[in-house]
Amino acid sequence: MSDQQNFDVVVIGAGPAGYHAAIRAAQLGLKTACIDAALGKDGKPALGGTCLRVGCIPSKALLDSSRQFWNMGHLFGEHGISFKDAKIDVEAMIGRKDKIVKQFTGGIAMLFKANKVTPFYGFGTLHKGNVVKVKQHDGSEVELKGTNVIIAAGSDSIELPFAKFDGDTIVDNVGALDFTEVPKRLGVIGAGVIGLELGSVWKRLGAEVTILEALPDFLAAADAEVAKTAAREFKKQGLDIQLGAKVSKAEVKSKGKKKEVHLTYTDAKGEQTLVVDKLLVAVGRRAATKNLLADDTGVKLDERGMVQVDEHCHTGVDGVWAVGDCVRGPMLAHKGFEEGIAVAELIAGLPGHVNFDTIPWVIYTEPEIAWVGKTEKQLKDEGVPYKAGSFPFAAIGRAVAMGEPAGFVKVIAHAETDRVLGMHLVGVGVSELVHEGVLTMEFKGSADDLARICHAHPTLSEAIHDAAMAVDKRAIHKAN
Ligand code: FAD
Ligand code: NAD
Repeated sequence: MSDQQNFDVVVIGAGPAGYHAAIRAAQLGLKTACIDAALGKDGKPALGGTCLRVGCIPSKALLDSSRQFWNMGHLFGEHGISFKDAKIDVEAMIGRKDKIVKQFTGGIAMLFKANKVTPFYGFGTLHKGNVVKVKQHDGSEVELKGTNVIIAAGSDSIELPFAKFDGDTIVDNVGALDFTEVPKRLGVIGAGVIGLELGSVWKRLGAEVTILEALPDFLAAADAEVAKTAAREFKKQGLDIQLGAKVSKAEVKSKGKKKEVHLTYTDAKGEQTLVVDKLLVAVGRRAATKNLLADDTGVKLDERGMVQVDEHCHTGVDGVWAVGDCVRGPMLAHKGFEEGIAVAELIAGLPGHVNFDTIPWVIYTEPEIAWVGKTEKQLKDEGVPYKAGSFPFAAIGRAVAMGEPAGFVKVIAHAETDRVLGMHLVGVGVSELVHEGVLTMEFKGSADDLARICHAHPTLSEAIHDAAMAVDKRAIHKAN
């Protein structure tokens, strides 16, 4: 055991929430340490958390590779481009993804160095008096004391008791980002964000993909029309999404040298069976708070294991804060970024703040799905009077020229004040377009403001312009 080392700020976890907190704290002149336990595929420490190692970035790398492959068979012909015998080299595709991951996880280590954040590689446990004991990978232990401690421990996949992860046949995101060949039949439990994104990756590369979703509604959190359009497009692509499917059994059986998973589930038609070669379980994530807190810290966990915090991410224990996936709110990297920065600024005496009303959601499928603010259903339930205008990409010259006419933009504004309350999009490139809605809402703008802003022609963003005009039934390029 070494002597205690003192810091102004000790951050536990170097994922999106933790590394933002650490870098911002160091920028503000605070002596900062950041601890992370994770190892990369090469067995060496890898900073950046779930997002950079096995989440946002690797999944987008595979989504982009598989989209190129899919477009060869489904879009290129329309452009008059032909080719012989398109093949996917899965090893090369995974290798490209791993290179990107290494570039970005290494990038965080460089940013720590540049900003004078001291990294510690190992597992941290918080003890009374803001002391964090770190069990390092070589077995040694260091003790850090922080005037402030920021918990940014992130989240882990939820495991179903009847479908335990084995890292090969039954996997979570980690395994599904590293298949060595395209599974002939891929089963997915959960039609949420991970199920749809990773299901799309392997579908585009040739797998037969069946997604079993327990709820009767598809993408219940999204705008109902957006969900309906997305479901229609996914069906056209051959993604088989079964709703109201309650899985009760997943048995791994050997078939020759291979293994397969025999699933039993019930839906409206009764008991069903499904046999697949690989099973991805994507039924949500839970806070990674196991062994994080000694008994005497005073920091409280809720019934789901999340660290309890107030609206400023403070735990109620002097100098102890928590941010990112391990606290309430959406499990999104950019939500963690903002909380990390806000807490560092609050510690430095600045007015740190996160506006939960303008956090965008994006699902990176084809078409992409994105939204910010309230849905029509939410506003109806809350009794808020609203008006909505929508505009289809099929009437947008740029989208049609690209061969991507699916989807639409919907702008929702308050019926009396015209203030924008939500924007819902499905279509090509909407992961970028949604930020017009975020900006408008952040600046408390109106649908009329959006309608009066000059949008370049021909661009996809014109769909937002016309949708904003449609709010008052004055869209130019469609009948109102
Ligand atoms: P994490 O990223 O989970 O990082 C926590 C870190 O803390 C980890 O490195 C962990 O090893 C470390 N740690 C935990 N406990 C300890 C401890 N006691 N001691 C030391 N270290 C510890 N979000 C988006 O916004 N956009 C996306 O496109 C997106 N895609 C995703 C795709 C997938 C497949 C998955 C799984 C997630 C995706 N997410 C996406 C969600 C996103 O990854 C998370 O919201 C984000 O990583 C949370 O950041 P965090 O810093 O709170 O936690
Ligand atoms: P999710 O909450 O998005 O979806 C889980 C789905 O599984 C839900 O539709 C749920 O109804 C269903 N489900 C739950 N239990 C089930 C069961 N027993 N049988 C069948 N269906 C069941 O969770 P996820 O897809 O695992 O993703 C986890 C988190 O990661 C999400 O909260 C999301 O915020 C984050 N993420 C974000 C992105 C992105 O921003 N593009 C991408 C991937 C992951």
